Amino acid sequence: MSLRDLTDTCVHCGFCLPSCPTYQLWGEEMDSPRGRIHLLSQLLDGAPTSSTVVGHFDACLGCLACVTACPSGVRYDEIIAEARVLVESTARRPLADRLVRAGMFALFPYPRRLRLSRGLLRFRPDPALAARIHPTLGALAALAPPLRRPVRLPPRVRAWGARRAVVGLLTGCVQNAFFSHVSAATARVLAREGCDVIVPRGQSCCGALARHAGRDALARRSARRLAATFARAGVDTVVTDVAGCGSMLKEYESVLGTPVPWRAVDVTEYLVSLGEPLAPRRPVPLTVAYHDACHLAHGQGVRSAPRQLLAGIPSLRVVSPRDPDVCCGSAGVYNLLQPEAAMELGRRKAQSLVDTGAEVVVAGNPGCLLQLDAALKELVGARAPRTMHTVELLDLAMRQG
Ligand code: SF4
Ligand code: SF4
Repeated sequence: MSLRDLTDTCVHCGFCLPSCPTYQLWGEEMDSPRGRIHLLSQLLDGAPTSSTVVGHFDACLGCLACVTACPSGVRYDEIIAEARVLVESTARRPLADRLVRAGMFALFPYPRRLRLSRGLLRFRPDPALAARIHPTLGALAALAPPLRRPVRLPPRVRAWGARRAVVGLLTGCVQNAFFSHVSAATARVLAREGCDVIVPRGQSCCGALARHAGRDALARRSARRLAATFARAGVDTVVTDVAGCGSMLKEYESVLGTPVPWRAVDVTEYLVSLGEPLAPRRPVPLTVAYHDACHLAHGQGVRSAPRQLLAGIPSLRVVSPRDPDVCCGSAGVYNLLQPEAAMELGRRKAQSLVDTGAEVVVAGNPGCLLQLDAALKELVGARAPRTMHTVELLDLAMRQG
């Protein structure tokens, strides 16, 4: 379907407006899904890509809450992806903005460069001082994860006991440099559930960050490389534990315009699809709040599988924040590029999570965990609930078993 056909499916009813976090923040029509679709129609009619128009597209989180809310089935996910490519190829951004974006995309999609940059975390500057140089530097200093010893997974993690499946595991770029402990937990949980886990060496970025920023050529290049890596590994299923990457992998056939010889699944939907659990779960007497990562809930429609897995842990009490469908402000690199809006959304989400009384906040996306961790600490300091990935909690229940 052409971009014009996609925008024409919007009947301007406005049902999506209340679900949109940026419309909630500013009450501005042009910062709503309907407004952005209208702006895009004007661009397609030949209107210039002014800095105001660019600002409205840049302010979109890409959270896809509007896709869930739209009764007419408007594919805003495809619309915003194409709109960003159009904006990126026609807009002239200020020099500082161009430098920040160039720096990010010279670093983030490259696992090796990211690993080399880990040492910089030792010299984390004061966020307020860094923000005086550039808001993105302030956000980087505030959100940078603690430096942990990286976990290097072997190329094959063998199933515990009888094997019932062989799967590939995406270790990603940012995930690989800063969240390798989550990948290790995913591999352990899968192995305890009877899976051999293949971890191909030399995995590239999946291309999600580039796609969300309208860098089409880089997104396709990354997707092509990663698709080939898992094809060579000979797996028919690739498991992901990062919501944004999983969403991107599921779009590979349309991004690349060619069939991909494996399917992508989120780790939680894969574990549920295996059927009766093999690994015993011991009680974890905690109250946890489950946070729906946007690219898991809205992007992939994965809502029940993580809740089902958490419900299978004895003594665990699972609660929900009052605004489960609203983005926490993380949204890939949104919290680095739009730090003010991201911080306000983070504050609101942190408040609703604190109000649940939970001791732990659980989510299926490391980016959300970083954003929530910073927002919760800012809100309640040392009383902040701990943050964990869903697989880390499962791993804990299985380790105790
Ligand atoms: S995107 Fe959907 S819900 Fe929003 S205005 Fe258009 S048709 Fe209505
Ligand atoms: S993707 Fe999210 S922020 Fe963007 S228009 Fe849709 S609901 Fe609003």
